Amino acid sequence: MKGVLVVLDGLGDLPCKQLGEKTPLEAAEMPNLDFLAARGEMGCMYPVKPGFIPQSDEAIVSIFGNDLNDSSRGQLEVRGTDIKLVRGDLALRVNFATIDSLEKGNIIDRRAGRTLTTSEAEILSKAINKITLPCSFVFKPTIQHRAVLVLRGGFSDNITGNDSAYLMGIRENSKIGIFKATDDDENTQYTVNILKEFSDKAFHVLNNHPINEERRKKGLLPANYLLMRGAGIENPKLKFYKKWLSVSYTPLEIGFARTSGMKVFSFEYPKLKGFDSYQNLREGLEKACDFSIKTLGKNHKDFDYAYVHIKETDFPGHDNKPLEKKSMLEYIDKTLFEFLRKFAPPNRIKIIVTGDHSTPCRLKDHSADPVPVLFYNVSPPKKKSKETGFFGRFNIYKKKNTDVKILGNDSEAMKDLKGESEATAEKFCEKNARNGKLGMILGKDLLEKLGFDK
Ligand code: ZN
Ligand code: ZN
Repeated sequence: MKGVLVVLDGLGDLPCKQLGEKTPLEAAEMPNLDFLAARGEMGCMYPVKPGFIPQSDEAIVSIFGNDLNDSSRGQLEVRGTDIKLVRGDLALRVNFATIDSLEKGNIIDRRAGRTLTTSEAEILSKAINKITLPCSFVFKPTIQHRAVLVLRGGFSDNITGNDSAYLMGIRENSKIGIFKATDDDENTQYTVNILKEFSDKAFHVLNNHPINEERRKKGLLPANYLLMRGAGIENPKLKFYKKWLSVSYTPLEIGFARTSGMKVFSFEYPKLKGFDSYQNLREGLEKACDFSIKTLGKNHKDFDYAYVHIKETDFPGHDNKPLEKKSMLEYIDKTLFEFLRKFAPPNRIKIIVTGDHSTPCRLKDHSADPVPVLFYNVSPPKKKSKETGFFGRFNIYKKKNTDVKILGNDSEAMKDLKGESEATAEKFCEKNARNGKLGMILGKDLLEKLGFDK
């Protein structure tokens, strides 16, 4: 194996009050990552482009060198499940959500409080699959509040979904969106009508369902509405990464890796049994790190590169839980990065560590802020003040990087990170990444610039 790319979902952050105005990365004790940082270089990346707030699918599609129009989230997510897609099938990503009423259309929680257990989701899904529509369809719950929907037949995907949380990188409001046709085709209007009928019927089925009555009694939010996005009918046309293996375990990541020609290694995600979604995430993270280590150990001779995507780090950002994010990072350091620290040098394996986007705790959402990048290149540790060395050879970075305007579109709060660094030169964090020698990279250039080929 020549290289490992580790993507920590939602890694980038901003200073947090709860952490004494440090970011979770700055606050976390990560001796193994620091070891790699001391022997590597840092930089920053705009996963898609400056000013753009990426969804996970947009970010990852872009980091692997694809155009955003080459795939849709719905298609990728469904390809990460066991549902078989036929040409013309319309695939969508779905969230179980909580709204006040169809008439008012206020979204109370985009994820039904993140407390929907696996068995509740399965029971609600059975009821949803009994809805009658003029076409056949499959509705399938995946992990926690997530699900996918496939409408069978020749539909159009020139529509907008009813999930207006993000529309092409711009943050939207908290009202449910309206399914809309984006062309004048009759079939597109037909598609819109069917989806509208489906989502209205689903509301009535869900809102009065005994599971939701129970949830209300327990003081939990009812999962009474389905938010849909990422409609797609076309097969994704993604670049092929034949020499890569992937460790992935969410439908989106599995679907992306499969479609990109990688060999997918996956495990079954632990069920959410109680109502503590963070307990579930911690179990998931343990399994993910352990599984990644075993997979890399066993398969490194058969593949040139590995793509490891750790999903859990995104959630504490959405929920403004910086301590939780810090402790997840420390856990990953203690397990996966301890393994990589020992495993990579003797095998001469390069490592990239980055995020797919920033999910700053204080914003409780993805942001356009660039993500830190760490590149370990099997070099000996650097002397702190030395300017030359390995990256002296890569003048191309500096030249190209000046083309990217780095400051214009970031969160105001990002300015806090631009002062003199108090952190040590070795620590992998947003501040050091800002000043790193790799400079500012666009997602689509990352792998090529760091010599990770297909
Ligand atoms: Zn993400
Ligand atoms: Zn997210």
